[in-house]
Amino acid sequence: MPGLQITTPADLNYTTKAAPFNLRLSPHPSFIVSPISVAQISETVRCAYMNGGTVSAKSGGHSYAAYGLSADIVIEMAGLNNITVDNADQTALVQTGNRLGNVAEALYKHGKRALPHGSCPYVGSGGHTLYGGFGYYSRFGGLMADVVISAEVVLADGNVVNASATSHKDLFYAIRGGGPSFGLVTTWKFRTLEAANVTVSYFITFKRPLSAEAATNAYLIWQRVCGPFPEPSDNLATAVVFSPADEEGTVHMRFQGNWYGPKEDADAWLNPFMHNLQVAGLTPILNATAHDDWLDGLRVFADNKPLDTPMPDTPDNFFAKSLITMDASPAWLIRNWVNYMAKEGVRSDTDWFAQVDLYGGKIGRLSHDTNAFAYRDAFLVYQLYASKAKESSSFPSDGITFVNGMLAALEPNPAGAYPNYIDPTLGISEWQRLYYRNETNIKILQEIKADYDERDVFKNPQGF
Ligand SMILES: Cc1cc2nc3c(=O)[nH]c(=O)nc-3n(C[C@H](O)[C@H](O)[C@H](O)COP(=O)(O)OP(=O)(O)OC[C@H]3O[C@@H](n4cnc5c(N)ncnc54)[C@H](O)[C@@H]3O)c2cc1C
Repeated sequence: MPGLQITTPADLNYTTKAAPFNLRLSPHPSFIVSPISVAQISETVRCAYMNGGTVSAKSGGHSYAAYGLSADIVIEMAGLNNITVDNADQTALVQTGNRLGNVAEALYKHGKRALPHGSCPYVGSGGHTLYGGFGYYSRFGGLMADVVISAEVVLADGNVVNASATSHKDLFYAIRGGGPSFGLVTTWKFRTLEAANVTVSYFITFKRPLSAEAATNAYLIWQRVCGPFPEPSDNLATAVVFSPADEEGTVHMRFQGNWYGPKEDADAWLNPFMHNLQVAGLTPILNATAHDDWLDGLRVFADNKPLDTPMPDTPDNFFAKSLITMDASPAWLIRNWVNYMAKEGVRSDTDWFAQVDLYGGKIGRLSHDTNAFAYRDAFLVYQLYASKAKESSSFPSDGITFVNGMLAALEPNPAGAYPNYIDPTLGISEWQRLYYRNETNIKILQEIKADYDERDVFKNPQGF
């Protein structure tokens, strides 16, 4: 194919191109193709189809399991990075070589529009949206998959189609939450949201690490004010983060998030919450800042990285698991979990965190058959994450055991997991059940796969 850049293991730049975000893993694709047009992608996929090859797209490359680099032929999407914002009909066409930070900047600069995406600017719009895509604006506006109006998709045979509510409806359903098994998305058409006029970003911290008992109590207070019934305003985004302390029996803990709207309204939620923590004998410190500029609000939770992603992201070396719960967890399980983190977390040879995000709001009000995201009624989504110093290439042997133990202490019988925090240690029956919830959902996705990619060109270790 004229003009198409192809990198193989014999090339000097192969190591850089095949390097995963997660250094714990070592993917080894045969070809890395860097197209600059949909026609080149179509030709590449057609070639794989005719010759029994497998294809994976790499959008932002931030898969926890390096699955963007998992096939024989990797199609690197970075060269397809147009963004067209249409303010008249409040839509945006986003090619999937774009990362979330670039999308946020382009949308805000063209008419103060926004999308409900995750906080890391380097995550790709491809993988993120295919599996759902949650961010602090999601209780207000839904998941990324919920604001897709249509998509341009390269099918397994290389044909290019438009999938929407009226064309290739099954495919349209599957690519919004069901992952990358069904086709290669070149462009999303999103319904954009108005960016909030004011974002109040807040952190509630504690001067010193908390004892396991105090942290359990603080967590249970937070869980109670989160609902699920009654649930807080859609304007609230809230999360809890635990991280290691030095002394056994203690953990660091903070609450964080955004309120979309005036500071007085944020205070009306934050002040009673603070009061509840104080009544329980804790001494929380509230730090809340109102931002008139939407992008400033995004930067707060972007590790102070530039949103326009000018440099490559710093890789990590990690393992993570997730848990989705539909109801509040009982106090004894939370106590068990926090005790585990306070004890084993001090001994673990990893840097770790556990983050819990409140779902609900707009996400929960959409009908369960809106798209393939299986957990409309999710209450909380937990992420349990352990990493080794970023520059190191070996992961400590106890790292996976530690994270598995965190989940077992929190929920011995997990009912749901979030596929954007993809966990390569799950077997086929586990990931299907945890990500897609029940036999009916799994069967629907299997049938769509059979219709669109019988030869399994878009083969994925955890794909249909
Ligand atoms: C630092 C960090 C922060 C994160 N924060 C959040 C967060 O706030 N909220 C949240 O929901 N998730 C978050 N995630 C998880 C993130 O959403 C997923 O890892 C996501 O799948 C990454 O997408 P990507 O395009 O960057 O990855 P990639 O590795 O490029 O792709 C992921 C998967 O999708 C496939 N794929 C990618 N693009 C396409 C395409 N165009 N067509 C077909 N298949 C494609 C790939 O083949 C691969 O299987 C975070 C991840 C990291 C590493």
